[in-house]
Amino acid sequence: MRARTFIFVHKNSGSRFVFVNLDLAMTMLAMKLEVVERIKTRYPDLASLYTMDNVMLAGTHTHAGPGGFSWYALYDITTFGFDREHFDFIVDSIVKGILLAHDRLSAGGRILINTGLLEGASINRAPQAYMANPSVERERYLKVGNDTDNLMTVLRLQDDQDKELGMISWFSVHCTSMNNTNKLISGDNKGYASYVFEKAMNGNALPGTGPFVAAFTQSNEGDVSPNTRGPSCPDGSPCDDNYTCKGKTKDCIAKGPGIDMFDSTRIIGQLQSDKAMELYKNAREVISGAINFRHTFVEMRNVTVSPEYTGTGSIGKVCSSAMGYSFAAGTIDGPGDFNFKQGTNTSNPFWNFISRFISKPTPEQIACHLPKPILLNVGDTKPIEWLPGTLPIQSVVFGKKLALLAVPGEFTTMSGRRLRERFNNTLARFGRADNGTHVVITGLANAYSGYVTTFEEYQKQRYEAASTVFGPHTLAAYMQEFDKLAIAIGKDLPVPPGPTPRNLSSDQHSFIPPVIVDTHPIGKKFGDIRTDVDKEYKIGDTVRVEFWSAHPKNDYMTEKSFLLVEREVSKDNWQVYATDGDWSTKFHWRRHGISQSVATMEWEIEENTPPGTYRIRNFGNAKSLFGKITPFSGSSSSFNVVK
Ligand code: ZN
Repeated sequence: MRARTFIFVHKNSGSRFVFVNLDLAMTMLAMKLEVVERIKTRYPDLASLYTMDNVMLAGTHTHAGPGGFSWYALYDITTFGFDREHFDFIVDSIVKGILLAHDRLSAGGRILINTGLLEGASINRAPQAYMANPSVERERYLKVGNDTDNLMTVLRLQDDQDKELGMISWFSVHCTSMNNTNKLISGDNKGYASYVFEKAMNGNALPGTGPFVAAFTQSNEGDVSPNTRGPSCPDGSPCDDNYTCKGKTKDCIAKGPGIDMFDSTRIIGQLQSDKAMELYKNAREVISGAINFRHTFVEMRNVTVSPEYTGTGSIGKVCSSAMGYSFAAGTIDGPGDFNFKQGTNTSNPFWNFISRFISKPTPEQIACHLPKPILLNVGDTKPIEWLPGTLPIQSVVFGKKLALLAVPGEFTTMSGRRLRERFNNTLARFGRADNGTHVVITGLANAYSGYVTTFEEYQKQRYEAASTVFGPHTLAAYMQEFDKLAIAIGKDLPVPPGPTPRNLSSDQHSFIPPVIVDTHPIGKKFGDIRTDVDKEYKIGDTVRVEFWSAHPKNDYMTEKSFLLVEREVSKDNWQVYATDGDWSTKFHWRRHGISQSVATMEWEIEENTPPGTYRIRNFGNAKSLFGKITPFSGSSSSFNVVK
């Protein structure tokens, strides 16, 4: 998991912008608040350079990462609560990334932009809802993906010597190529795309070590799935119109293009990487002009939406947040596995603890959300709501060329198109945009608050609509509030900062069992082999070795590796060939008995692997009963790779 960080400074005006693309399911409000706070308190010299207003954090939406990093209960249920250690690790890593980028700022440079359509990497997973949008509107998009937003936007970053520095791509597709049976940590399809793009640009350097950084950023992917073969039932028959198999949502699952989820991740990642490379190589349009950014916090439930935005001819009210019934069902990308039976004992201690705080919706709340039937009235839980009610919105505009809109959630295809068009039109009224301005949505940015559908899609109450937590006028509210940012940019005025969300750091609860102690079998040491490798392997084989190891949480191994594949280049001289960041390796960990650990290291020998002698090493840290953490390592026997 990486935090790919970019700092942009406009030379003449000094205006500055930080963009961080995170291999995470989303950015949480807590992360943004804490990143800004830690820069302020720990690096006072930088406090005025990197602020709430000009730092943008975006999550790729990988579903294959560790969780427990929200201050809001709804998003910590699956992890048994808030994981302070993990949260601190994420925030410190982001801050470290910003410092590194700051130190490496080049004296000058250029930004080039290019766009193109990527076909075959996405499908709409709620087409019934999409069809509810007006046909005249839908017809405008028949050639640009129809019910998916197929436009990829790429920035090419180079210094004033034309040395290539980095690439950022925006493309809308869920990072759910890995399905919910996967237990491995992964950047999913966007992580894979970054991996291969960076390999290509960094001359095959080990992952995370080359100078060139390639980020694949999420956009308006709310209803977009990477599982392009679409949904089907376990017996292979098609799902019914409501995406169920004989009434069961759980059985209707979409499959990716590959033979399994790993293969699908690779294919969807490669498609994004290839398209981005093509656009990157052919980028000619130069971005110039000062960087104009605006950021404000909006208390959502207090927003009244004017008829200009609702599309209904009357004023719209934004509701206090609530989840609808279809939320619990999940989607074709992952049927819901939340245990939402209220008032019963479940195996989830965090749920048992917090479920007593669920409030009953009032008649006004029920009416506000119609036609959504309320399952969880998360906005009115006491003492703190389960979902952030005060949200950040942010726009960053580069001259007249590029506008980035950071949205704290997942906009559907049509929602994103409407927001972008509106923002562009408003900027254009002030001469700050034209037909050639690229308006791009950065999704899951700065905070997370579920989905955003159009008013028409909302009426269909599919998963995305059930998870549109502020009611039918949520999109209209965003369009109205983003318009205020566009108007402020147009008039060169500041925007009010809005109400600062409460810091909930001291209100967190965790039922995550800590690591008590690590042990190994009698007569063994940490790092000893449990099952060794064979003597010889061929290209295409998978090498497997098991070690007596320890709990991986004892050390996150930042910028290190739990495993190394090493190649003997001369007698007793070993060189690292692959790390745990490589696609060819897998690190499985399991508890054995009460406190022993088995680490299984796998290495798939890819095409082009040079024949020779190799070994696989394990690195870990063991915890004693007194809490002392001791590093250890182990090695497999050496083995030969032959043609
Ligand atoms: Zn999602």
